[in-house]
Amino acid sequence: MIEPTDDAETNAASGIAGTLPAIRTPLQTDKAHGAAEKTEAGNYFVANYPPFSFWKPEMKPSVESVLERPAPVDTKLGLYFHIPFCRKRCHFCYFRVYTDKNAAEINAYIQAGLREFEMYSQKPYLAGRKPQFVYFGGGTPSYLSIQQLQDLTGRMKELFPWDETEEVAFEAEPGTLTEKKLEAIREIGVTRLSLGIEAFNDHILEVNGRAHRSKEAYRAIDFAKTLGFQQLNIDLIAGMMDETEENWQRCVDTAIEQQPDCVTIYQMEIPYNTTIYKQMKESGQVTAPVADWPTKRRWVSWAFDRFVAAGYTVNSAYTVVKDPKTVKFVYRDSLWTGADLLSAGVASFGEFGGVHYQNQADVGPYMMEIDAGRLPIFRAYPTNEEERFIREFILQLKLGQLDISAIREKYGVDPIQRYAKQLQYIEKEGFLTVEGDVITLHREGMLQIDRLLHEFFLPHHRDARYT
Ligand code: SF4
Repeated sequence: MIEPTDDAETNAASGIAGTLPAIRTPLQTDKAHGAAEKTEAGNYFVANYPPFSFWKPEMKPSVESVLERPAPVDTKLGLYFHIPFCRKRCHFCYFRVYTDKNAAEINAYIQAGLREFEMYSQKPYLAGRKPQFVYFGGGTPSYLSIQQLQDLTGRMKELFPWDETEEVAFEAEPGTLTEKKLEAIREIGVTRLSLGIEAFNDHILEVNGRAHRSKEAYRAIDFAKTLGFQQLNIDLIAGMMDETEENWQRCVDTAIEQQPDCVTIYQMEIPYNTTIYKQMKESGQVTAPVADWPTKRRWVSWAFDRFVAAGYTVNSAYTVVKDPKTVKFVYRDSLWTGADLLSAGVASFGEFGGVHYQNQADVGPYMMEIDAGRLPIFRAYPTNEEERFIREFILQLKLGQLDISAIREKYGVDPIQRYAKQLQYIEKEGFLTVEGDVITLHREGMLQIDRLLHEFFLPHHRDARYT
């Protein structure tokens, strides 16, 4: 139950009691997050809502109770499998990754993941459902051998058939790919290959601890193009250590020359559990040794302009696509509109029927739970309808343009009315425009969307750490 404030608008039809928190200026928000100019340690990227720090182990039973419900008829399902192995740990990495596991340990992990999928396949909520999308993330999924990939996906397909699957996305580290492995990746059904290139300059790659070099990136792109994946995405990061204006521009132009279908650009952030942060702490530094936020925004903006001039379209705060009619990202679009996600593997995040969960974050406890025949869930959070409404609204705002009519119809609440004060304020700051049912973010708004989204959080969720 949400406590209405004096400003609250209550929507009796949906049962949502809306709260309208006091407006803080975006600048105040910025300062509150320690990110006014310099890059300081912390997570700024809003990946989900409510923030992860509100998910608790004592809420795990809420997952079990959803799983005992009958399968929904109109909710899409996705599968995610997390592969936590990498050749080397990047200095900016905040994921739990293992760089020292041998083939037998990796095989055991895959078998554990398959047992997890099997347990889920027997639950009433999931039995008989077919995934609309499948995602292999990490870590480095392409670290697996061909045999391991075939064993993993073969059994996954037996448990949850892929014959109605629209997209199979797969993250790859260029240095792990041979033409033969890429052929196998395509053969198992991958439609969207995402290459973690990050930069095309060997010095930048080395200084930031990446395992691959530019030669391997070019080779991987060539292989991928020859093999004809439906979609080739490359990831870039603006503001890595030692990045310069000139080098960034060369990096963007090189990416354009390579003509991928889609490019995802992140602004470098330095979360607490990174090697960079550890070094900052040891030397008493508050500011991370990477570009400041205005520089990173300027670089991403330059990149967007350059891609647009080359015929690409900006279709979210982080992506440009060659052809918006044919290049889709089903995983993102389905998750942001409320699909279920059966997520397996260590530390993975999933959700069923509005209940979020995250698995055990270390491989030891994860495997022990599976061996004991239990789902390896570490913490969970059952959302209420208001939180689901906010989640879909803020995540879809990341697309840059949002027609709110579908959300209004689904929840019986008009986000433009509910957030009138916040939207007017942000509009006055020049970050967006509201016209009829459509909210359009301007470039400056797109570039700092993760900061602005906190304005739409419930008061008690603000300033939470995204860990
Ligand atoms: S490749 Fe990705 S997951 Fe692996 S260490 Fe680097 S950033 Fe982390």
